[in-house]
Amino acid sequence: MAGLRVLVAASEVAGFAKTGGLADVAAALPRALAKLGNQVAVVMPYYTAVRRSGVPIENTGIVLPVPMGGRVLATRVLRSRLPNSDVPVYLVEHQPFFERDDPATGRSLYQRAMPSGYKADYPDNAERFVFFSRAVLELVPHLGFMPDVVHANDWQTGLVPVFLSEGYRTQSGYQRTRSVFTIHNIAYQGMFGRDVLNLTGLPAWLFNPAQLEFHGHLNFLKAGVVFADAVSTVSPTYAREVQTAEFGCGLEGLLAGVHAKLSGIVNGCDYEHWDPTADRHLVAPYTAETVFSRKPLCKAELQRRFHLPEDPDAPVLGMIARLVGQKGIDLVLSAAPGFLDLGCQIVVLGDGDREYHDELQGLRDRHPDRVGLFLGFNEGLAHTIEAGSDLFLMPSRYEPCGLNQMYSLRYGTPPVVRTTGGLADTVVNATVENLADGRATGFTFGDYTPAALYETVKWALTLMRDRPADFQQIVRTAMAQDWSWDRSAAMYEALYRKVCNLV
Ligand code: ADP
Repeated sequence: MAGLRVLVAASEVAGFAKTGGLADVAAALPRALAKLGNQVAVVMPYYTAVRRSGVPIENTGIVLPVPMGGRVLATRVLRSRLPNSDVPVYLVEHQPFFERDDPATGRSLYQRAMPSGYKADYPDNAERFVFFSRAVLELVPHLGFMPDVVHANDWQTGLVPVFLSEGYRTQSGYQRTRSVFTIHNIAYQGMFGRDVLNLTGLPAWLFNPAQLEFHGHLNFLKAGVVFADAVSTVSPTYAREVQTAEFGCGLEGLLAGVHAKLSGIVNGCDYEHWDPTADRHLVAPYTAETVFSRKPLCKAELQRRFHLPEDPDAPVLGMIARLVGQKGIDLVLSAAPGFLDLGCQIVVLGDGDREYHDELQGLRDRHPDRVGLFLGFNEGLAHTIEAGSDLFLMPSRYEPCGLNQMYSLRYGTPPVVRTTGGLADTVVNATVENLADGRATGFTFGDYTPAALYETVKWALTLMRDRPADFQQIVRTAMAQDWSWDRSAAMYEALYRKVCNLV
């Protein structure tokens, strides 16, 4: 089968500029697609972060005329490559829009720190991403190939499918190009005033509740959903959940209405970086064959790092998370006294909201010999926790995909997760039936309550202590799972073929 030609448009790409998981997908998916034999290019803005990232950058000589509200802005395009690949990354340069980020002064890609300490969106975000989305389509004739698919991501590129459908598709060359739009987190929709429509050059009649309008506002994410030929989210369960009022952030009706073109593909996991057999952060790297003799050494190291007693018999519950409401920290805090009564040690690595910092610090101060805490971002410690814990806690309220549970599977540290989003799709619960079938990889619960989390951990400890053969089988099955990017990229490729009628 001939390879596809794909242009991935994203507002951030890991290695160039990153604020979250979208950047990881935008860096890993194109590389994996190229490995499968597809011709792929990536396009993103040229931020200050890109200039400072140290990636080699060349000029292309391309200057795009980007129409913006009656004016045309001339825009230079630079080029780099995704590391270890031939995939070009086109960088759209427009200094007033994109070269303002500076972590030292609290300016990130989309937000700036206010004197009060709060973060606020840049007031011209709509202009910045109308401009970028338009530039994506102006770039197409310069790629050296006509894309079968333009793959846009999140609200920043939500207008790409609109421009394609309502403008460019009538022009020669673009007729056969289809659009795919991926929602990485529906909580961020890009909502702006109606006047932004003037900047886009789109006809005013598109501003109606069935198309671009959302309660009097222009909603970029909604625009992407309405106009894309296919819409995806980052797990099948999240694709179902966003069609409900609990998770849809107001767009549930729209998404339910387009369910026929909506699907979910779990993100891949970077197994080069998260590989227990060759992890330089571990005192005793291990394979599925050596896990039971070497993982205890990693556990002892974890206990040492957190100044906890080196007790091999105390089950260690590990957690790594942004400390925000989404992640279920409140459940862990409420269930913690019960965990300690069961003889557990608890280790938490995270950074985020002040209230969680304070409460976790309180817990640690009350039980300094039972609770380990690191508030901040620390890559090495994250690896140490994934390897050294006996169970990994991820009781999220919602989780579009989630990566930590996939790392813990690979590290033979059974995850204890709530059945939501990607957690529901990647962890198989240790029920009696699943154990008998040899399918179980972890422990799941449904109710968002401390009692449900507590009971699930208690069941896991019962298996660990009283039925070690069953627990060891869970560890082995977990380590054998494949949540690689190769797998996810093959699923995206199938989606692209479907949307292009090439199946
Ligand atoms: P989310 O994208 O919602 O933050 P994920 O589980 O998908 O959650 O991914 C989180 C990623 O960030 C993982 O790679 C995790 O190891 C890492 N991470 C989160 N907090 C920290 C921290 N404090 N220190 C180190 N790594 C962290």
